[in-house]
Amino acid sequence: MTTSTAAVPTVKLFIDGQPVESTTREWREVINPATQEVLARVPFATAEEIERAVASAKAAFKTWKKTPIGTRARIFLKYQQLIREHIKELAAILTAEQGKTLPDAEGDVFRGLEVVEHAAAIGNLQLGELANNVAGGVDTFTLLQPLGVCAGITPFNFPAMIPLWMFPMAIATGNTFVLKPSEQDPMVTMRLVELAHEAGVPPGVLNVIHGGADAVNAICDHPDIKAVSFVGSTRVGTHVYNRASQAGKRVQCMMGAKNHAIVLPDANMEQSLNAIAGAAFGAAGQRCMALSVVILVGEAQQWLPALVEKAKTLKVSGGAEAGTDVGPLVSCAALDRVSGLIERGVQEGARLELDGRNPQVAGYAKGNFVAPTIFSGVTAKMSVYREEIFGPVLCVMHADTFDEAIELINANPNGNGTALFTRSGAAARHFKEEIDVGQVGINVPIPVPVPMFSFTGSRGSKLGDLGPYGKQVVQFYTQTKTVTERWFDENDVGGAVNTTIHLK
Ligand code: NAD
Repeated sequence: MTTSTAAVPTVKLFIDGQPVESTTREWREVINPATQEVLARVPFATAEEIERAVASAKAAFKTWKKTPIGTRARIFLKYQQLIREHIKELAAILTAEQGKTLPDAEGDVFRGLEVVEHAAAIGNLQLGELANNVAGGVDTFTLLQPLGVCAGITPFNFPAMIPLWMFPMAIATGNTFVLKPSEQDPMVTMRLVELAHEAGVPPGVLNVIHGGADAVNAICDHPDIKAVSFVGSTRVGTHVYNRASQAGKRVQCMMGAKNHAIVLPDANMEQSLNAIAGAAFGAAGQRCMALSVVILVGEAQQWLPALVEKAKTLKVSGGAEAGTDVGPLVSCAALDRVSGLIERGVQEGARLELDGRNPQVAGYAKGNFVAPTIFSGVTAKMSVYREEIFGPVLCVMHADTFDEAIELINANPNGNGTALFTRSGAAARHFKEEIDVGQVGINVPIPVPVPMFSFTGSRGSKLGDLGPYGKQVVQFYTQTKTVTERWFDENDVGGAVNTTIHLK
């Protein structure tokens, strides 16, 4: 963190439909992780600025909640078009501040764009139910009404997709929103917020504050915020869940992971190893759905040398460089953490089959690079197995039987994603039935659900009942009201006082 006033651009807050220069004295630099170039300075909003953002959202809710559903839907139709037109520009901003490759950055934007497309279908999603004649002349129906001011707190690893998981559906359902992006890479998020306003989101409906723990705690505590959506680490997510729940809010937290793949000996070897290498090392392992453990069952353990050879072919370089497979880690701190965990793996007795530390990357001498790294002989007690490394490090384990591998996964504290590689339908069915993990892939290494479904998670990977997009999020962002209704006409003169609870 700095207090400097150097002449680098400042990231603005966004309050009441306007970019706002913060008056804070606390700033942090946004740094290109491939070059260490300072791209911008991001403010840690003051308490007064946070208050203003919430007040703006509260005031805007009064009219926004009554805006016709078709008007809301058309804003998101326009928004998806604008995102499409700006996808290259958005990807370039994202790559510069986060490090992932340009095609992967476009994928980050695109997966968010799909949620925006879904928000444009809100007319079909926010429908209540009606039961006719629940008693004589009585009907019951439900209204799905917006909650008020909602808030989102997002992580660094998908700075386009995850904000787009949150505010489009919250706003489309009639709420107003306060977003707190990751302070590590807020620039692409801000460009998306500008485009949302260009698409017609009215002033006050979408506000942005920046900051760290203090801003997050202010969101958790604020009495005018009704719901909080969080995506990030399990440590912070658990804190947010407890603090915001205690303050009476609706909360959903999508959190950390340790995603395992099981490889059965009957799997298609070439396809499976390609999929595993891509899912373990793509985005430098900084995906919550990255594969970080692979369990080779029975004779599949003979595939380890082929997996190592595949990992060696991946090109490590700056994300903006054509042909790059593995870009830098987001920060020097992340580099130190990942390097430290690799060292601990060696000390604790795992076999380092491929050491990706300190790679020589031409033209990017200062980048935060770790090349693909593979450990074998990993046990469940080792740090490299227990901790979410969040880098391009794959732990290879061996199991004698399929069920032993399933038990290992179900015993892990996290349950975000998993994949099985096999040619057997019976094995796949057994896996789907027995595994306790939110996202399950069959020969699909990163099974992130598209927006007509909802992202989920088991055990330590998720708190709260409802997922961040899909049909579930319509429930998350609305209060269900049931109305039971009877109309008397002028001729209804019979009857008497009824003291029982039955409607007839
Ligand atoms: P993080 O938890 O450090 O940060 C997430 C957010 O919390 C940021 O906005 C940050 O400013 C804020 N924050 C940080 N420290 C805080 C504190 N002490 N008190 C209150 N708020 C605080 O996560 P990250 O490093 O940005 O992202 C990586 C993590 O996110 C990984 O654990 C990854 O698995 C997880 N993740 C999960 C999903 C999912 O859907 N399950 C998706 C993406 C990322």
